[in-house]
Amino acid sequence: MAKRALITGITGQDGSFLAELLLAKDYEVHGVVRRTSTLERTRIDHLTSNPEIYNKSLFLHYAELSEPIALRRVIDKSAPDEVYHLAGQSHVGISFEIPETTLDMTATGTLRLLEMMRDYSTQIRFFHASSSEIFGRPDHFPQNETCPFKPVNPYGCAKAYATLMTDVYRETYGLFACNGILYNHESQRRGENFVTRKICRGAAQIKAGLKDYLTLGDVTSLRDWGHAEDYVQGMWLALQQDAPENYVFATGELHSVDEVVQTAFIAAGLDPKKFIRQDPRFMRPSESTRLVGDASKAKNKLGWAPKWTFTEMIESMTRHEIKLISQGK
Ligand code: GDP
Repeated sequence: MAKRALITGITGQDGSFLAELLLAKDYEVHGVVRRTSTLERTRIDHLTSNPEIYNKSLFLHYAELSEPIALRRVIDKSAPDEVYHLAGQSHVGISFEIPETTLDMTATGTLRLLEMMRDYSTQIRFFHASSSEIFGRPDHFPQNETCPFKPVNPYGCAKAYATLMTDVYRETYGLFACNGILYNHESQRRGENFVTRKICRGAAQIKAGLKDYLTLGDVTSLRDWGHAEDYVQGMWLALQQDAPENYVFATGELHSVDEVVQTAFIAAGLDPKKFIRQDPRFMRPSESTRLVGDASKAKNKLGWAPKWTFTEMIESMTRHEIKLISQGK
């Protein structure tokens, strides 16, 4: 019988790639979607518009992380073998503006799901998408699964809580619960307010004459940027093991925002020096520093390794934006 998976956050970047991966592996995929006034589901439109897939091997259910009764109903109905918990308010900058919502969705939302996992007699395997932001300003470089948590923003605090609760529920109740500690991961489906997508789109808009310049915050900021397609593969592998464990998923390479600018603008055939302006509005009240991951455990135990390089990813994202703009999107 086909395995069944439930994905919270299926309409997001990672959720959409994970749904594709699981459907290709013949899973029956169930996704939790929020009932919002705008039906923002473009990342899975190609799946929901396919009559061979939608309501045959892919099903969507309305529920909110803030609404345990509805969530429980979805779990009952979908009877998953595996739950991938990807939903939450995931923008660090925005978490300073709406810290309570961030905590409620990202921290308490995870706790609610863990409480539900406890009640099911069948052993549902549970994956929590944790984040490198739990390490904040670490003392160790690169960071692995044993590095102490030192978050420096509301999002990182919420993720630290959710990560620790996943550990507590695994150890206390014997749940098959894993944390994937995911470093930044990008793609053409990344939200437009994340810096890689913003830069690639900005370069394409300038090339098309739709914009004169691009405004950014701190371009010296460094991140370990991988491709989301590689990271969802790691999520799946984590749940296929004999025992539940935590894994860091990262490339191990640091690049600056400025390197993203250089790569994207050169791919668009533009001289970046002419088009970048700085605006304090995009500076963070507090920055995470030198978050670079050591994924040796995932490499050794799961056989996981990123396939995309930084340059290939940014060039491909830029080409994609140029194509979108040429189609009037
Ligand atoms: P994050 O690592 O989850 O916060 O991912 P982002 O893509 O939002 O930000 C990555 C880095 O880019 C952070 O250090 C930001 O401070 C920096 N950055 C510089 N300019 C910008 C900008 O205009 N927008 C965003 N989102 N980040 C910027």
